[in-house]
Amino acid sequence: MKVAKFGGTSLASAEQIKKICAIINSDPARTLVVVSAPGKRSSDDTKVTDLLIEMARARLTKRDGREELARAVARYAEIVRDLGLPDSALEPIATDLAARLALPTDDEDLYMDSIKAGGEDNSARLVAEYLRHDGVEAHYIDPGDAGMILSDEPGNARVLQQSYGKLRELKERPGISVFPGFFGYAASGKVVTFPRGGSDITGAILSAAVDAEVYENFTDVDSVFVANPTLVDNPVAVDEITYREMRELSYAGFSVFHDEALEPVFHAGIPVVVKNTNNPQAPGTRIVPERGVGERPVVGIAATDGFSSVYISKYLMNREVGFGRRLLGIFEDEGIPFEHTPSGIDNMSVIVRDTHFNHAAEERVLRRIRTELEVDELSVERGLALAMIVGEGMHHTIGLAARACVAFSRAAVNLEMINQGSSEVSMMFGIKAEDIPAAVRSLYAEFFRE
Ligand code: ASP
Repeated sequence: MKVAKFGGTSLASAEQIKKICAIINSDPARTLVVVSAPGKRSSDDTKVTDLLIEMARARLTKRDGREELARAVARYAEIVRDLGLPDSALEPIATDLAARLALPTDDEDLYMDSIKAGGEDNSARLVAEYLRHDGVEAHYIDPGDAGMILSDEPGNARVLQQSYGKLRELKERPGISVFPGFFGYAASGKVVTFPRGGSDITGAILSAAVDAEVYENFTDVDSVFVANPTLVDNPVAVDEITYREMRELSYAGFSVFHDEALEPVFHAGIPVVVKNTNNPQAPGTRIVPERGVGERPVVGIAATDGFSSVYISKYLMNREVGFGRRLLGIFEDEGIPFEHTPSGIDNMSVIVRDTHFNHAAEERVLRRIRTELEVDELSVERGLALAMIVGEGMHHTIGLAARACVAFSRAAVNLEMINQGSSEVSMMFGIKAEDIPAAVRSLYAEFFRE
């Protein structure tokens, strides 16, 4: 049994939906299908999920949201018409979205999640209907009935372990099961969503639950590339990559996959293939537990901004037992996760994401460090980016750090920090955000140009 997940661009129009139905029908093992909400038809288009978010906001800010509702319904109407389905196929969608708009708004976060879930839910109903119209046995699956039980964290839910047992029963369903991505139900019965891009997570959970032969993730590119194609012209494609490598690259800005999506398949050891709905013959990129390292020790390069560094120095820090714990305890008390903690004999930096470190949080943290830890120096550097080279081969290859540093110096990129985790799958460099393009291009030239 294969689990096939189709992303937003694969659902964006009737033409795309016809392609995904042809893909489903071309392989009898593709019996569990996960779909996103209709995405962008072109670069300046708006995803249905974003239209729905606008609709919810309109209602929450006391306007009625009917104009936004009409825009979302119009997207489905166009798809229904171009698929050649009768007008009656649109009615339940229009009714469902209008009913969501009218839900009580007392808990704004839960209201927002119920609205956002409407994109995927109606997508799944529509695809099942179209497959049936084509003579194929297909069923829409309600995530609540199927047992997709999530933590009660609106917009940021996680699957609860107890879900897996019930979800496994999907194996026994007849025909093609079409499952909406992105949402499930909290134990209280309320709809909750994963973070944005979370249909990938649904697909991975289902793959683990049914012990799929492979998790196929259909998107709009032939494969994953070793570097961001908007920074590097025609980058080399990745044929095979390990979960660990992919996880490191996703962390540093590879946007192919949602970060959290690989966890369930990683634990179950299920291979993942990233494929192109518009060119399903292309072999795609395989994400596997292990791979032969071959001649290229580096599999990818990524860089992402949005970090800040808090620098602390204190004479004889190395002798002060518990200093690190007390310092990180301050971040913990403030609810700020730390990303990295490069340290020297008498100094330490704590690198955090800006999304968790606004100016008010910065003020509180600095005040506490000053009063509780009696440090000599304390400063904050904003506008930091992390550039990474990633590859399992790093472990056995001498001289990679030297080559990366030469590449940075050639591009006149100043290094603020170097960090190699003990796993030796990646090497991380702190740079200024404005240096990202130069850094990525020069690393690419060093490691991938023939
Ligand atoms: N439709 C949702 C989003 O736009 C989830 C997804 O497509 O994976 O974030």
